[in-house]
Amino acid sequence: MENIQDIINIGKTLYNKDLTIGTSGNISVKTRDGILITASGTSLGNLKEDDIVLIDFDGNELENKKASSEKMLHVEIYKQRNEVKAIIHTHPQYLTTFACCHKTLDEPIMSENILYFEDIPLAPYAMPSSNQLVENTVKYLQNRDVVLMANHGAIAVAESLKQAYLKMETAEYYAKVTLNTKILGGAKYLSQNDIHELIKLKKSKL
Ligand SMILES: [Zn+2]
Repeated sequence: MENIQDIINIGKTLYNKDLTIGTSGNISVKTRDGILITASGTSLGNLKEDDIVLIDFDGNELENKKASSEKMLHVEIYKQRNEVKAIIHTHPQYLTTFACCHKTLDEPIMSENILYFEDIPLAPYAMPSSNQLVENTVKYLQNRDVVLMANHGAIAVAESLKQAYLKMETAEYYAKVTLNTKILGGAKYLSQNDIHELIKLKKSKL
């Protein structure tokens, strides 16, 4: 199946680009028949067809396999954001560093990031797999596509798996550059007027 192969390929790319580690993280795609999601305990860099589980839109497994423990986070995002078709949750090194330090990625340092993200907010901490984690994270995803999860990792949502991947990759780059600017004594910020113009440009493209 095309969607299953896409998940396997994106998992490999995430691993090869250092955006996932060990057996952490999960990937899902919304299909007509339900949600395809990685199984519990799988390594995203080495997924097999059997590691992908079909669940219904309420999170019930439709196959005799155990879906990711974060399945309800995916289910709730698809419920609230009808246009979202793919979700990636991983613990990339730099985004997770910001999440662990409770630092929102909101410094206006790169014009492209303002066009792409505006900012990357931080959802408050909750236990992994808990209802509270779902509630905290979904709230911040209402008008953003990438969110940091405090003391945990990051999540990216999009209309396709490829777009979700690109968002995660670009967000990780934003985190890296932000951290690097601290080494050189801090970035020079774009002016309020520059930011205003960028947001105007972004809105004109929607
Ligand atoms: Zn996680």
